[in-house]
Amino acid sequence: MTASIFAPDYTETVYWNEVARRGPAGWEGAFPSQADVVVVGTGLTGASAAHTLAATGRNVVAIDQGEIGGGASSRNAGMLGKGSRQSYLLLAKAAGREAAARYFSELDRIYDEAVDRIVGEGFDCDFRTTGRFIGALRPDHLDRLIREYEARALHLGEKVKLVRGAPDGIVGSQQYFGGVFLEDSASVNPAGYTAAMVDRAMRAGARFIPRAAALGVGRDGNGHVVRTPRGSIRCRNVVVATNGYGGMEFPYARARLVPINAYMIATGELPPEVIESVSPARSTNVDSTRANRYYQVSPDGRRLVFGSRTGRRPPGPLKAVARRIHEDMTYLFPQLADAKVSRAWTGRCAASIDFSPHLAEHDGIHYAVGYSFTGLALAPYLGRLAGEWIKTGRRPETAFATGEFPTLPAIAQLFRPLTSPVATRYYAWVDRPARRAADPVS
Ligand SMILES: Cc1cc2nc3c(=O)[nH]c(=O)nc-3n(C[C@H](O)[C@H](O)[C@H](O)COP(=O)(O)OP(=O)(O)OC[C@H]3O[C@@H](n4cnc5c(N)ncnc54)[C@H](O)[C@@H]3O)c2cc1C
Repeated sequence: MTASIFAPDYTETVYWNEVARRGPAGWEGAFPSQADVVVVGTGLTGASAAHTLAATGRNVVAIDQGEIGGGASSRNAGMLGKGSRQSYLLLAKAAGREAAARYFSELDRIYDEAVDRIVGEGFDCDFRTTGRFIGALRPDHLDRLIREYEARALHLGEKVKLVRGAPDGIVGSQQYFGGVFLEDSASVNPAGYTAAMVDRAMRAGARFIPRAAALGVGRDGNGHVVRTPRGSIRCRNVVVATNGYGGMEFPYARARLVPINAYMIATGELPPEVIESVSPARSTNVDSTRANRYYQVSPDGRRLVFGSRTGRRPPGPLKAVARRIHEDMTYLFPQLADAKVSRAWTGRCAASIDFSPHLAEHDGIHYAVGYSFTGLALAPYLGRLAGEWIKTGRRPETAFATGEFPTLPAIAQLFRPLTSPVATRYYAWVDRPARRAADPVS
């Protein structure tokens, strides 16, 4: 009989919540019927928008259909970087080197803003500057990565180490053909980070209300009425910060976003020598495929937190997905064959068709959405800019509010539940790892 891969304490709960400071309690007074601004969604985007507006004296109510900050913001992989799905080389080719440099310098500022806030305001979220390794699972991926990051180092001054061959001293896997190591990258406990963002918005005066889903928004003179099962709120402005969790209630966002499921596990505690053999640099790590594997050692240094199978439809119960993630983990690290899965959870992000986040205004409602798994720095930034837009009445100067937010092709809208799984399967096939070492996955 083969031994179970599940630890005796296995639960389907978010590991980060167990080791984060508890988030602040929500508003316990009467359900408000009036506000200056209603923010829908209380993750990093919503908390940041709420803070920006409350700090200038606006009466802000932030509502969530679930628990406060309980969406992707507290369920993610905790890798804080200068994230973007855009390639510098492709952008420079399409828009010119100057425009590409402007775009990437905004990403630099976004990362710095996040780090300054976390460090400067003393967020209790296990912040560590870790660096990030992007490992190539195919020789053509390595060529592409090296070309891209050589250009970034040369033209943008990014601090990058190019790795040709096994990434010894960074990651203990024989499956990589090489990769790149990015110095400006960090790790946080996302649940602690989100709780701290909500906390500061509450201290600025915003009211956060859990379990109050927006069912829809109607016009009310110059303002809006947000309908919830607990009552309606009349307000001047609405910020939609629902990202992967939004539904039919916001048709403008729905027509432009593909929701994408993602899955993560945390192992049980591992011996220090096993941790050392897997992640000697204690960096955050992703691979070069589009629906990639991503992982890091937990802040206490005892577990591996690992995600993969992004975009798949849940193949039955979460335990079945956890089994697949374990296979993906041992594919990279055969030394983890005996490691048990102790926690498994799922979360949802959203991507636009151009793989760019968007800040938009439509019918008097502001939207900040579409982070494609790069929201840890970008979501608070776009949330802040949504707040600034409402405060000043002027569209902010940013690459993410160009006025163009493309709708999904009709076929993707029609077959919405299949869009992400079909695309992911396609990418998984195109990006299938080449064999480098003995391949344990048949
Ligand atoms: C597994 C996973 C791993 C990830 N890893 C990383 C990473 O390592 N680095 C990185 O930068 N990004 C990562 N991301 C992406 C990142 O987590 C998101 O981009 C970011 O959290 C988005 O924040 P948000 O506030 O916009 O959305 P969310 O945090 O998802 O919040 C949206 C909220 O809206 C609420 N909501 C939805 N509809 C309604 C409604 N009608 N009424 C009221 N409330 C509503 C939801 O309940 C939810 O709480 C990951 C995402 C996932 C799922």
